[in-house]
Amino acid sequence: MTTNERLGLEDCRRIVIKIGSALLVDRKTGLKKAWLEAMCDDIAQLAAKGVEVLVVSSGAIAMGRTVLDLPSGALKLEESQAAAAVGQISLARAWSESLSRHDIVAGQILLTLGDTEERRRYLNARATISQLMKLKAIPVINENDTVATSEIRYGDNDRLAARVATMVGADMLVLLSDIDGLYTAPPHLDPEARFLDFIPAITPEIEAMAGGAASELSRGGMRTKIDAGKIATSAGCAMIIASGKVYNPLASIAKGVRHSLFAPSPEPVTARKTWIAGQLLPAGRLVIDEGAERALHTGKSLLPAGVRDIEGDFSRGDTVAILSLDGREIARGLAGYDAQEARQIAGKKSAEIADILGYSGRAAMVHRDDMVMTATRQTRSKTKDKIDA
Ligand code: GLU
Repeated sequence: MTTNERLGLEDCRRIVIKIGSALLVDRKTGLKKAWLEAMCDDIAQLAAKGVEVLVVSSGAIAMGRTVLDLPSGALKLEESQAAAAVGQISLARAWSESLSRHDIVAGQILLTLGDTEERRRYLNARATISQLMKLKAIPVINENDTVATSEIRYGDNDRLAARVATMVGADMLVLLSDIDGLYTAPPHLDPEARFLDFIPAITPEIEAMAGGAASELSRGGMRTKIDAGKIATSAGCAMIIASGKVYNPLASIAKGVRHSLFAPSPEPVTARKTWIAGQLLPAGRLVIDEGAERALHTGKSLLPAGVRDIEGDFSRGDTVAILSLDGREIARGLAGYDAQEARQIAGKKSAEIADILGYSGRAAMVHRDDMVMTATRQTRSKTKDKIDA
């Protein structure tokens, strides 16, 4: 995909649209009904053209806060869980009513991190979502904030939406919030910041451009949007970041209003590898030397000899992150050994494994079929210039 070959939303087969809290909920007056209805007009138009649409809607906590009249400022975990319990009911009803104006049925799906990270639950959630789509109902998805605790939650719907997009094999993810796209630097801080309308690949330079900013109502800033982009594009799904601060934001994108488009990876990884790459909580980390890093970039397996350090307590088959000596994540993969055995054979030649472990194990610490690169090859000098500048 190049700048000239933009995929129109109408040409997509399946689109996931993520809607930020601030677009749907006003802190004082609650639901922005007119905006939601205009949004549903856009969705109905796409649906009428045969595009399958899934919605990831934030706003439960913001809505619950307004209904319960909670003071502004950060909420404690229990407070946001309670606010979400109250707000999610109104949010789901609002979607269902607004879509029904177009004779479209909505189905609510509340997911937790475990539902996308544990393979069995992932397959189960995916089956329910596909069944809804078969029945021509539009899934309206949110994190199940009332039961998600801080260690085991997404916390932001950008990455959740990207996970959903890969789960259903969507070809487009649209992130609508109060940010109209990616800039070379935070535009409110740097007058020289340039807007990027097309991002062919998420390189370390692009990642460095994402600041950490988030507005009061939403949790995700540009950082989580870029993380979402990595999850989506590596699975072959394009991503758009656009402002939702207008009525009919999808129709506006079609008319050419400014937005950032991230191209899908030209070599999307298989569904299984997509699942590995998108794991949010790897069970351990393997730090590898430069020789092994080069080997990985040429498509080789990770051998014990190249492993310098091992962190975490993982079992064989768990997902581990593979890091360079300077701490950059290079790849993710399924561990070929339990952590304890991996520690015994780290740095050793494959021929020595049998003597050390007492049985002849696998030659690879992480086999290439179970591994997916999560970083492009580092262009050291450019990144350094960026940091120095
Ligand atoms: N799940 C949260 C909610 O519905 C929103 C998370 C986010 O802002 O990304 O309130």
